[in-house]
Amino acid sequence: MVSLGIAPYFTPFTSNRDTELFSIFDRRKNWSLNTYLSEHVWWLLFDKDIATHIRRYRIDTISKRIALTAAVFGVFTLAWIPIDIFSFDEKHHAKFVITRLGIASLFGLIYLYARNGSHRVSVLLSLFALLFCPLILHGVGYQVFIDNNLEGLAQINSNLYAGLPYVIIAGLSLFPVVAIETLLLAIPLILWEVGMPLFYGSFSWVEAASQTWLLGLFLGVSLLNSMIQVAQLKGLMERADNDPLTGAIARRSGTNMLDFLFNVANKKDSPFALAFLDLDNFKSINDVYGHEAGDAALRQTVDVLHEKVRSGDIVIRWGGEEFLIVLPDTSIDDAKLVLERITVDWLGPRPDGTPLTASIGLAERTLENTETWKQLLDLADSRMYEAKQAGRARYV
Ligand code: GH3
Ligand code: MG
Ligand code: MG
Repeated sequence: MVSLGIAPYFTPFTSNRDTELFSIFDRRKNWSLNTYLSEHVWWLLFDKDIATHIRRYRIDTISKRIALTAAVFGVFTLAWIPIDIFSFDEKHHAKFVITRLGIASLFGLIYLYARNGSHRVSVLLSLFALLFCPLILHGVGYQVFIDNNLEGLAQINSNLYAGLPYVIIAGLSLFPVVAIETLLLAIPLILWEVGMPLFYGSFSWVEAASQTWLLGLFLGVSLLNSMIQVAQLKGLMERADNDPLTGAIARRSGTNMLDFLFNVANKKDSPFALAFLDLDNFKSINDVYGHEAGDAALRQTVDVLHEKVRSGDIVIRWGGEEFLIVLPDTSIDDAKLVLERITVDWLGPRPDGTPLTASIGLAERTLENTETWKQLLDLADSRMYEAKQAGRARYV
């Protein structure tokens, strides 16, 4: 979630003031602009540094919402035909009816297409089409009303046509789109709208400037609203997926993610690495220092693992003191680098000061030619046992 960036540096639960100060400085030492940006900024602007399953869910949400909006707009577009016929001159009726029938069919097509959309580019294109449809109607209205002095109901109705571009830009806020997407969608629409009078020889700089200004304000509000939606979506998903003790992904959601990510890797025939990690002599922490100390060691393990993997990688708490590290799009050599990073100073200290180690088994899809992630997991699991038997504190 978006935070002020200060909260993570407070450790309110330490009783000793010196420790508290020390831990603040200790964490500051690891602070870097790059990690700050990737944790708090990049994903809101570019959809980068965000877990794959959240990214996918976001695109899915957008495409479902496009389908819903297209259906609603399609019905409204048709329902408005009698109002146009009632309020406008007879000689313009045919133009409005034909345009509305055409646009309603376009909405229908967008509805059918968006229902099954899954790729970011195709989903964004259908969103663009959805937003462009009302602009066609607006253009026809502009052309018809430009030389006409209207009164009464006709005037009210034509004002609604004139307001459509603002509805479109405001409508962007219905979708959890990141900042760059909002801009890519909105700027061409705004340019189109502001430049349209050029075709009719009625362009005026004052008019263009005030329209750009106002549309820009609408855009600003939409931009904020969409980013808040993305942040809420991400926050909710992370909370629903997490094991409450450690903050790692819980086994149930982890299984879904494995299903999905392994399928993607299979389809693209891309590498997919999986590490099975079991903490060494963990029971003795519980036995000697109590269950609380055991829980703290588990939390510490997950914190350290999160620091050492990329943000697209996933740490799953598979069982009591067993974890999976899922590394999509990662070759065996890169996966080994990740494990080297973990094994160099391990998972922080045990309560007695010695390093908290683990036995790790590693397996990779393209090397093993496995058909399912369960086979890959079995391989990683058996290698974890080999690591235990070979004396613990290592990966195989
Ligand atoms: P090995 O090196 O062979 O893996 O030994 P180990 O002691 O780590 O393995 P073992 O399977 O004997 O012990 C795992 C222990 O983890 C037993 C269980 O009480 C403890 N445990 C499981 N879940 C939790 C938890 O949520 N909190 C705490 N504190 N302990 C847990
Ligand atoms: Mg175990
Ligand atoms: Mg163990």
